[in-house]
Amino acid sequence: MPKVKNWQLGREMDYRYDEAHPEWQFAAVFNINRCIACQTCTMACKSTWTFSRGQEYMWWNNVETKPYGGYPKFWDVKTLELMEQANPNGQRWNTATSDKEAPYGVYEGKTVFELSPKDRFALGYLPTDDEWQVPNLYEDNAVGPRGEENKYPKGGGLDEHGTWFFYLARICNHCTYPACLAACPRQAPYKRPEDGIVLIDQQRCWGYRRCVEACPYKKAMYRPETKTSEKCIACYPRIEGKDPLGGGVPIETRCMSVCVGKIRLQGLVKVDGNGEWAHDPENPLYYLVREEKVGLPLYPQFGTEPNIYYIPPRWVPRSYLHQMFGPGADHAIERYVMPSRKLLAVLQLFRATRTIIFRFEVIEGKKIGEANVNGKTLELFDDTVVGYDKNGKEAIRMNVLEPFHLRDEKYPNSI
Ligand code: SF4
Ligand code: SF4
Repeated sequence: MPKVKNWQLGREMDYRYDEAHPEWQFAAVFNINRCIACQTCTMACKSTWTFSRGQEYMWWNNVETKPYGGYPKFWDVKTLELMEQANPNGQRWNTATSDKEAPYGVYEGKTVFELSPKDRFALGYLPTDDEWQVPNLYEDNAVGPRGEENKYPKGGGLDEHGTWFFYLARICNHCTYPACLAACPRQAPYKRPEDGIVLIDQQRCWGYRRCVEACPYKKAMYRPETKTSEKCIACYPRIEGKDPLGGGVPIETRCMSVCVGKIRLQGLVKVDGNGEWAHDPENPLYYLVREEKVGLPLYPQFGTEPNIYYIPPRWVPRSYLHQMFGPGADHAIERYVMPSRKLLAVLQLFRATRTIIFRFEVIEGKKIGEANVNGKTLELFDDTVVGYDKNGKEAIRMNVLEPFHLRDEKYPNSI
């Protein structure tokens, strides 16, 4: 197989095809610390794209409760187990050094492509019908010790919790090296050169389900009515700026723009001639992922270079987060609980506007207070963050200090 560069793994890896990269890449950062599992995202997607016959079990966006929940059932545990069987004790990282080329160190294990059986292009499995039937099994089921240890941390710290769960919102990752695309004998899945969105050509698809089998995130789904596979299309008319709501500029997908918990920030990042994200520290996604390294890929060891990034939940045991997000989890949590002025300002952009922000700037404001975080002093400033759309026009202006509105006495709370 040809060799391609996977920056998330800090090394080259095997892939079915040679390097070929889009001009821009669709990407997003999800802040897990804020998700409330309201499922508004899930229903926004379903009511837009998957309400027709044969799509009943199709949830292109889903939100599962970790560690037990998953859609399809146990999708990640099953893939991790397959990888473990094929390469026992192999999922290891060398974190002795890290640099721009290998920000999380070097993955020394093997990816789903490198563990592929001889008659396939990626290691995978086909979920059973039963596994697709219940999208939200184990909702709110926590794990952890009971009794004395089952307590919140003392002293107002932001420590790991003894008993824990968290919500993991998921869509297709519009991977840089999609396993769905590598697996298909008909070349039905393709990656758009303009924005990196991965689609399945419904005319070319003959329903072999190799994409369903190969996608380690199980985000390609089979539709028996049409005998073809379908997947998240990243609401591409909105990304193209063709939705009338956008006024001619790119706007966020349905699932992103409805998010009640304000956990999501989505956009497009420029890709350079080598297939890397072009250096662009004023793009909020580039800043969060490549500069602050607070947004991390989901199961980077799979090897597809997913483009949905996560700010990990700070209360969850680190060993679990290392497996799910790689060795960058400690650094990401450290930055998130003790944010720089700039990071705190950029975090205000999450769900502040549906217009895609291509550039931001921070205008410094006055000091408004201090907080004690795990024994360290965090200074807080009322800085202003300004976001600009694709044409460089101001789309949003947010302050760190939220405005305070006093309800007039003549409008008492009637609830
Ligand atoms: S809309 Fe936002 S807060 Fe609600 S479940 Fe989806 S990602 Fe979580
Ligand atoms: S998440 Fe799965 S379906 Fe989406 S691009 Fe990656 S491999 Fe393909």
